[in-house]
Amino acid sequence: SAMRDERIKKTKTVCTFCGVGCSFDVWTKDRKILKVEPQVEAPANGISTCVKGKFGWDFVNSEERLTKPLIREGDSFREASWDEALTLVAKKFTEIKNTYGPETMGFITSSKCTNEESFLMQKLARQVIGTNNVDNCSRYCQTPATVGLFRTVGYGGDAGSIKDIGSAGLVLIVGSNTSEAHPVLATRVKRAQKLKGQKLIVADLRKDEMAERADLFIRPKAGSDLVWLSAITKYIIDMGWADEEFLASRVNNVPEYIESLKPFTLGYAEEATGIPKESLIEVATMIAEAKSTCVLWAMGVTQHIGGSDTSTAISNLLLVTGNYGKPGAGAYPLRGHNNVQGASDMGSAPNYLTGYQHVEDEEARRKFERAWGVNLKPEPGYNNHDMIEAIHHKQLRSLYIKGEEMGLVDSNINHVHAAFEELDFFVVQDIFFTRTAQFADVVLPACPSFEKEGTFTNTERRIQRLYQVFEPLGESKPDWVIIQEIANRLGAGWNYSHPSEIMEEIANLTPIYSGVTYERLEGFKSLQWPVAPDGTDMPLLYKEKFPFPDGKARLHPVTWSVPTEFGEEYDIQVNNGRLLEHFHEGNLTYKSKGISSKTPSVFLEVSPELAKERGIMDGTLVRLTSPYGNVKVRCVVTDRVKGKEVYLPMNDSGDAAINLLTSSYADKDTDTPAYKETKAKLEILQYE
Ligand code: SF4
Repeated sequence: SAMRDERIKKTKTVCTFCGVGCSFDVWTKDRKILKVEPQVEAPANGISTCVKGKFGWDFVNSEERLTKPLIREGDSFREASWDEALTLVAKKFTEIKNTYGPETMGFITSSKCTNEESFLMQKLARQVIGTNNVDNCSRYCQTPATVGLFRTVGYGGDAGSIKDIGSAGLVLIVGSNTSEAHPVLATRVKRAQKLKGQKLIVADLRKDEMAERADLFIRPKAGSDLVWLSAITKYIIDMGWADEEFLASRVNNVPEYIESLKPFTLGYAEEATGIPKESLIEVATMIAEAKSTCVLWAMGVTQHIGGSDTSTAISNLLLVTGNYGKPGAGAYPLRGHNNVQGASDMGSAPNYLTGYQHVEDEEARRKFERAWGVNLKPEPGYNNHDMIEAIHHKQLRSLYIKGEEMGLVDSNINHVHAAFEELDFFVVQDIFFTRTAQFADVVLPACPSFEKEGTFTNTERRIQRLYQVFEPLGESKPDWVIIQEIANRLGAGWNYSHPSEIMEEIANLTPIYSGVTYERLEGFKSLQWPVAPDGTDMPLLYKEKFPFPDGKARLHPVTWSVPTEFGEEYDIQVNNGRLLEHFHEGNLTYKSKGISSKTPSVFLEVSPELAKERGIMDGTLVRLTSPYGNVKVRCVVTDRVKGKEVYLPMNDSGDAAINLLTSSYADKDTDTPAYKETKAKLEILQYE
């Protein structure tokens, strides 16, 4: 009947499962999701989505959703009213601030939440509390890539659009499981390879789907990417294949950089990386011959003690070959979460205000001080890695985390849990009762993306609006509403009635967002930053100049950090990454029936060689032990992995949680955990 039809509604939203930023319409009837329907006008994906975007939404209506605030009582929790919970939060925050000072308080936002919410979290930390101790989970993935780009080309974002990758002559993928982690983007590469003769090189430990399709697949030893990248750059220069004109007119530091490449001969690279010289020459030749090259990279590069340096080496290679500022060329660090780019853009970082305006930049600080009526600290605060150490040293007393499963996704989680136990006061705001929430004093029920409005910024710097599909479930509230209520109980007097008003403030304070308004983002419309005040955006960066005072890029010399040693008994190299079907620790996707029936658990990929040596078969239960903890998991024997390298997907929250094994070693420039430098010993527990 007509009445029934009126209950059916169609709402545009943006997917939250990866940084590609697919947008689509969701058809619903009351709280039932009828279908997800991509539209041609969706800028990142058109009519495509992957399995997560299409079927991953059952969690929104899960019975396990938090619907009421919880307050700890001894070892358990009781339900509380919002008023009681928020009063307690305000009281404790005030006490800790007055007793120990604002620098003993930490704030962590989520790169799954909206830009507006991450903006408010850092505003709460800086304006209301008075600390730069604020961070987000791009610290766990892509901060090193951002550093590599800042050093060399100046903007911490992808050089062009996802669509543009399809027009590259050559795509080089380094340390990214693209077809599982960024499925719709990988489809663009697959299509270009098939239809336009685009060439593909993959460098990875593991022979994943893209490696199978590649024209050339190279398997460097774990953590050695900087060496072969530098060696092929040197070879290109030595052969006279560098883009001399580009270097002369648009790049600084050329002689110093060339000098720094001296040690990176092909012979040295072959020895350090295990890649034969002939393959290195082939990579260099393919890059030199291609009309343009895009480099895509992810956590296989960044999650190492030299993650920022390797990201820098990638950008150096692109500069030497003139692969910036033209279509189908440039650096594409692939952001993991839907809003990794945005959370960082919003200044939820200990050293940056919004739009990467440094806290040490006095002029930038003055602007915020005038807008907010407070004095801001010029010293960077703690990042989330520092925060854990500071808690262990009683230098951090309280933590407010929203939408971040830090108790599973940080490295060395036994160490992290011990820190949580030490806190005087711990607030966790999430949609589920997570592993992290188990340590909280107060748990606040938030809303997922389907229950709020706001914007996300995807991996190609594209800002897109999401619209509210459902009313908040139970008593849950959107994160921005909760943060505002906390701020106001601390006397802030904020008065935002809609996220668009928060965006107005962001635009006023942030040059790269200055022309962003909700009107310009209506429906499927979007903008790629930097956005000028008149609303002109910039899909392709660096066409005329690089954002440095003299408009020139900078080659940045780097040296290799040899991966961390674990001791001889830890002879198994434990690589980790994603599964197509699941999102991170799986808090969301295991709750989707369609997904969890297909992929109910993770498994350890073991090479045929190792299987033969140890007598492992499909289904064998093994224990991996590192100096930091152990996991139990069943094996699958596959030639995707080689020798003593095993692959453990990160999508588990129980006995096989990867971060029971990982260490506290981190990238020396950013403190991003060296997740990929993990070694363990392996014992067989049971044959199946
Ligand atoms: Fe969502 Fe990424 Fe899949 Fe697109 S590719 S539907 S953004 S998970």
